[in-house]
Amino acid sequence: MTTVNKEDIKKSRMYARQQLIDGWDQEIVSKGCVMVVGVGALGCEIAKDFALMGIGKIVLVDLDTIETSNLSRQMLFKPGDEGRPKAEVAAERLKDMNPFLNVDFYFEKLQKLPMAVYEECDVIIAALDNFNARLDLNKICLRIKKPMVEGGTVGFEGHVQVVIPKDSGLEYKKREIEIEKVVDTRMWEFDNLEYLDAQKEIEQLEYLIERLKQEKLEPFRRLVRKRVEAEFDKKYAEDVINITPCYRCLVPIPPADDKLVAACTLKGLPRNRNHCVIKAEVIFEKEYGFKPDMNVDDDVVKLKHLAQKELEDLRGRVFNENVSEEKLETLTSEEIKEWKENIKETFGEDYKFEEMENILGNKIAAIQSVSSIISSIQSQEALKILFRLHGRNIGPPMDPPYVNYNGVYGQFDQLEIIKREDCLACGNIEGEENVHLVVPFDADIGYIFKAMRITGHMLEPILWMITNPVNKEMYWNPYMSGEFKDPTLKLTKLQIKSNDIITLTPLGKAKVESEIKKYNVIITFM
Ligand SMILES: [Zn+2]
Repeated sequence: MTTVNKEDIKKSRMYARQQLIDGWDQEIVSKGCVMVVGVGALGCEIAKDFALMGIGKIVLVDLDTIETSNLSRQMLFKPGDEGRPKAEVAAERLKDMNPFLNVDFYFEKLQKLPMAVYEECDVIIAALDNFNARLDLNKICLRIKKPMVEGGTVGFEGHVQVVIPKDSGLEYKKREIEIEKVVDTRMWEFDNLEYLDAQKEIEQLEYLIERLKQEKLEPFRRLVRKRVEAEFDKKYAEDVINITPCYRCLVPIPPADDKLVAACTLKGLPRNRNHCVIKAEVIFEKEYGFKPDMNVDDDVVKLKHLAQKELEDLRGRVFNENVSEEKLETLTSEEIKEWKENIKETFGEDYKFEEMENILGNKIAAIQSVSSIISSIQSQEALKILFRLHGRNIGPPMDPPYVNYNGVYGQFDQLEIIKREDCLACGNIEGEENVHLVVPFDADIGYIFKAMRITGHMLEPILWMITNPVNKEMYWNPYMSGEFKDPTLKLTKLQIKSNDIITLTPLGKAKVESEIKKYNVIITFM
């Protein structure tokens, strides 16, 4: 019995300073549960924040293992942790920080988690590093009506977005302020003499202002307010509160899949440094039967050799494109050398290991100082939402619900973001999907289906039709014969240009079975 008491005292000592905050209730925090999806630079910081504040439970989700390059930012990991699952190690370290904490961890894809895991949490915090995972999490949160606090960084910049789904039981925007605005205009409409007189008196007799407000204005205002309140939610709430744009509203068309770019690079000729490395990786895999492991020195050396050769070929091609044979004859050896030096400068020096690793892993520039700023904003927003969910107000969600941070200038910009009526996640459109495909210049109709497969959309070519959404021209119809059913027909021959949109619609069995009734596909040639 005494040990329990001692523990309680220790607990209250730990949280003594935050108890001083107006409206704080440690009970709410210690019964709360937050989910942190992605335990990288942002996720480590956010999980640490909530562990220190005494949250009841943290659910960690991450499918990666720790790499050496994580150690410059991901503060829950230390040298020697390499190779271990991030979620597991983070759970251990958080328990060290706060022994009262409950932590569940999942070394798993967020899409594979049982819904019950999400349902249990009050707030979902997205600390992810790619579009697709964010879009999937956004969808899940909207479906189960859980608030999501999204964040991300690139180099010295970052952003935070609060997503409050409709009917989540949370208010968005300053409901109080909105009500007050309506009350103010409504008071004039009443043409109440007593009120108007009072207003005049206030102007003339400044010393009476306070008393008049109390005696004349406030009772009347309360009356009006009561009426406004009664009808407010029905009449105005739809437009002004309770809804924020979702993450997908901002990313209607996700950028093309990297695997597609890689597939494309193999077919075509590399046009920049990154392409050379991606192509080298594909050649490596073809030659040795496995993907290069950046932790194996031997693989790195071989890959560097391949990439270097691609880079030299690229320099050579550019030289030939710019210097015709006739022109070459007129140049002195000095001038030729200068040309070659210029080209070398344009495409950069020889590869270094870190650069290849960054390119292949599609890594984004990141630094601890910015990660800690962005993650702290996320923690703060999630904290306010947590209190709100439990009937306490320590502040409304940030409004507008999106903030951008530029660390070069030390500038925060709150951005008004717009909810899209045609949003594929929260809007009125059901059964549509936007996809961005990168295709080689000589791509044909068959390649579209191949590219769709690479991006995870398994479509049977004999069950889908391809058309031009603008002039309704037919590109592919498996039910017809002749040119409408020729998978080798080149897209360029069909007059499809870069950044044109084509439409894929299901036929027959697919029409009945497919959840998606229409794919809007942007085609970009590379
Ligand atoms: Zn949306």
